[in-house]
Amino acid sequence: METVSLYRAPTTEADADEIADWLRERLDRAGGREVEVRDRFLDAHRTEELPEQFADSRVLSPYERETGNTMLGIVRYEERVLENPERAGGVLYDGVAVQRALNEAIPEPERSLDRLHVVLLDRAVGTWGDHDGRWHKRVNVLGQPAVVSVPGLYEAPAKPEAYYEEKQKQAMLSGDAPPREVLENEVEGDFLVEDDPRTTEALKGYVMQAVHCWRTGEGFCETEGCRLSNPHRQPGVMEAQLREPEFCEEHAELYGRDSAGAHDEKTG
Ligand SMILES: [Zn+2]
Repeated sequence: METVSLYRAPTTEADADEIADWLRERLDRAGGREVEVRDRFLDAHRTEELPEQFADSRVLSPYERETGNTMLGIVRYEERVLENPERAGGVLYDGVAVQRALNEAIPEPERSLDRLHVVLLDRAVGTWGDHDGRWHKRVNVLGQPAVVSVPGLYEAPAKPEAYYEEKQKQAMLSGDAPPREVLENEVEGDFLVEDDPRTTEALKGYVMQAVHCWRTGEGFCETEGCRLSNPHRQPGVMEAQLREPEFCEEHAELYGRDSAGAHDEKTG
């Protein structure tokens, strides 16, 4: 039977078990797939090459296509954060290069087309925009394995302008990034911040996008408000992932109407 293996990201807010339950329910309406939850990918499939591959995938500048810094100190740093993920942060990686590295780490018997690996990752990833010559942060990179970046959920879709203004103002006053509560109180409009309690709910759709692409070959949905769409701004993410209905008409045909499932938080 076709199987989805979803890997935990233990240092983040994301609850892989809850995401898997949600996914299983919707896939049951579409013919059924096995959905299993596994521990952190980087522990389960650690290879000796990974530290260097991560170092080599580092984005060096937002406007520079070339990536990678494999100086010994950087590779050592990558070794340490593979070992102690709570120490990672602040680095942007080339999402396609990371995906390639993780793909190579998947053991041979699990490399079949009837198994999709979905990696919840505690790293920020981006893809290069040929059209505008800069890196763009992403919530997910579809493929095998599908990479779903938890920090990407907070950082990739743009927040309201006022957020960035407030952040800059605070930085000038104190030299530090302002605490989350300050930004939440000072900035109007809804957006996801680091460790947001709505993280798991919002990520369900991004995991589903990976599964949908694997099943059907289709990319993101063009219909605003559908869980399978890929909004560029935070208010669009709120609309798609946290408000009813879950899917557009076409995708509701496949995965069902909301009322058929239990998802209490979504209306809250
Ligand atoms: Zn749709």
